[in-house]
Amino acid sequence: MYWNEEIECMSREDMTKLQNERLCAQVKHVYENVPYYRDLMDKKGVKPEDIQTIDDLHKLPFISKADLRDAYPYGLLAVPLKDCVRIHSTSGTTGKRVVAFYTQEDIDMWNDCTARAITAAGGTSDDVVQVCYGYGLFTGGAGLDGGSHKVGCLTLPMSSGNTERQIQFMQDLGSTILCCTPSYAAYIGETLHEMGLTPDDIKLKAGIFGAEPWTNEMRRQIEELLGIKAYDIYGLTETSGPGVAFECCEQSGMHINEDNFIPEIIDPDTGEVLPEGSKGELVFTSITKKAFPLLRYRTRDICVLTKGKCSCGRTLIKMAKPMGRSDDMMIIRGVNVFPSQIEAVLVSNGYAPNYQIVVDRVNNTDTFDVMLERPADALDYEIPKREKALSSALKTMLGITPKIHLVAPKSIARSEGKAVRVIDKRKLHD
Ligand code: ADP
Ligand code: ZN
Repeated sequence: MYWNEEIECMSREDMTKLQNERLCAQVKHVYENVPYYRDLMDKKGVKPEDIQTIDDLHKLPFISKADLRDAYPYGLLAVPLKDCVRIHSTSGTTGKRVVAFYTQEDIDMWNDCTARAITAAGGTSDDVVQVCYGYGLFTGGAGLDGGSHKVGCLTLPMSSGNTERQIQFMQDLGSTILCCTPSYAAYIGETLHEMGLTPDDIKLKAGIFGAEPWTNEMRRQIEELLGIKAYDIYGLTETSGPGVAFECCEQSGMHINEDNFIPEIIDPDTGEVLPEGSKGELVFTSITKKAFPLLRYRTRDICVLTKGKCSCGRTLIKMAKPMGRSDDMMIIRGVNVFPSQIEAVLVSNGYAPNYQIVVDRVNNTDTFDVMLERPADALDYEIPKREKALSSALKTMLGITPKIHLVAPKSIARSEGKAVRVIDKRKLHD
């Protein structure tokens, strides 16, 4: 049930004590070994001695993706390169990729985090874990692979792609836990049914899906397609990879591995720390990583934190499903729109989660089009009525009206990794 009960169910008092100790040591480590961050601290007039407890965290400067790009590739390294054993890189979803370094200890800590996630999803050494996150520089494959080995599961390092073969192996080898992006899980589920199979033909019981935003509506759809319970997992390359936070049986937010990562929620405009329960930008301080220890890293992911004991018994603070990144937020005709809001409406109206949002500016007015596939059994004469109904459902949710285009089944590209949902052509004109 727990991978590390002592930590996962630790009292708040003990957790704070542990975090205080680790934070103090980490700030010293960074100040002494990372000139780039030392300069940021000096500019802000903060010395390592000023940081005694987690209440002093707000005194430290932030670090952002721009700093990572600026310091690329070695500028934020805190140990000699000879002590590093691995490099990973971000997916480059929002621009130039950045790289992160790991010592063997850092890898062990990371594997421990994903082992907690697998255990929380019901995984034990009896399980067969099929990892269909990409292997390589991307952290998904390596992250879940490491945790799966640690728990002692039989691990299938499939990587993504070749979906029919994925299903063949799933059947032949009796995979019980699937790990991949939610969009790929939906694609695998769709392919399973197209192959004339049902969840009764496979042994899957759980899925651990993350690396991109997905809604609860999409979760239910994947659970039904594959006959499983679907768990969320969150992480980013800058803090190690997947496993910074993981979902438990309650499926209502992800427990943050606070013994390694201290979370804060800030106002993205002012940088001010917001009280518990407020929606804002998630910031992480790594307190155990040695090679690439980022302090107050601005993730640009928008979410909410909640403390308090969970029904699963864990005391680790929970983060809500991120709504998306601040850079995913589109401003269309003056209204803030997240792709996840659109996904929730489409899927709850019975459509598959294959959609694309196209935004453009014509004659100084924003155009807002949503393409999604018509169900195979929909009749031609129904299409205009369906489009209108969806358009008004979205208007109710967002306050602005998109133009809906129900396109032919299978005409929107499926994703084997992170799905690309938005094409903002306005950016091309800028
Ligand atoms: P990139 O930032 O280039 O995509 P990463 O592969 O490191 O590089 O991705 C990390 C990002 O993926 C996170 O900052 C977050 O935006 C997104 N992400 C990861 N897991 C989840 C999740 N469970 N839900 C929503 N978004 C997620
Ligand atoms: Zn829980």
